[in-house]
Amino acid sequence: MNVVVLLGPPGAGKGTVAEVLVGKGYIHVSTGDLLREQIRLETPLGIKAKKLMDGGQFVPDDVVVGMIRDLLKDSAFGTSYLFDGFPRTLVQAEKLAELLQTLNGTLEKVVLLECPVETIVERLIGRRTCGKCGSVYHVTFNPPSKAETCDVEGCELTQRADDTEETVRKRLKVYTEQTAPLISYYEAEGLIQPINADQPINDVRADVIKVLG
Ligand code: ADP
Ligand code: AMP
Repeated sequence: MNVVVLLGPPGAGKGTVAEVLVGKGYIHVSTGDLLREQIRLETPLGIKAKKLMDGGQFVPDDVVVGMIRDLLKDSAFGTSYLFDGFPRTLVQAEKLAELLQTLNGTLEKVVLLECPVETIVERLIGRRTCGKCGSVYHVTFNPPSKAETCDVEGCELTQRADDTEETVRKRLKVYTEQTAPLISYYEAEGLIQPINADQPINDVRADVIKVLG
């Protein structure tokens, strides 16, 4: 089993890049999407996670590590995963390393999407998503053909509860404090591949595909 991690602040474009890599044999794993599914199903985990997520805080490490453990333990030989939004803390990174060691898996690369703060705020405030298929749009930068409607499903797009300016700024602070230290952690292991994410969507996607060979 191989893992590629997409690292970067919220709004850098991890999900948008992942959409094209799925067509290249990767299984896209977004811990945010997995948690939102728990919220939709109104499970006890989802109810607890919703409060934290809506406030821009992380859910506890053991919750997300448990989700990843459950997913990896049944992997078929040779599966390639693309992690989006995991790991997000040093504890999560250490647990991932332990899990991969136990399961004979390899962390191949950590692709770092770099993007200035004000670009991020604009991207997240204008983000719209499809509740059915998960497609990601932007009102200006990546609009659907018909306003507020998913091109794939034809249903109405929604705005995430945590995509308000106030919560976005809180999430960026949490990113700087808790996730940014992963950059030097993975640099020390020689795994970081920086990408300029402040370019048009197709250019960012092409650069990521290039570094993944
Ligand atoms: P992340 O998964 O890192 O939080 P998303 O992929 O959901 O980020 O992208 C956040 C928002 O920015 C979405 O509305 C998306 O359409 C838009 N977006 C993503 N990449 C770019 C880009 N390179 N240029 C302009 N807008 C982008
Ligand atoms: P995302 O969809 O990646 O923007 O994540 C949305 C929210 O889900 C985050 O702001 C966190 O509250 C929570 N979340 C997602 N992934 C993790 C993680 N690896 N660790 C902790 N919280 C997470």
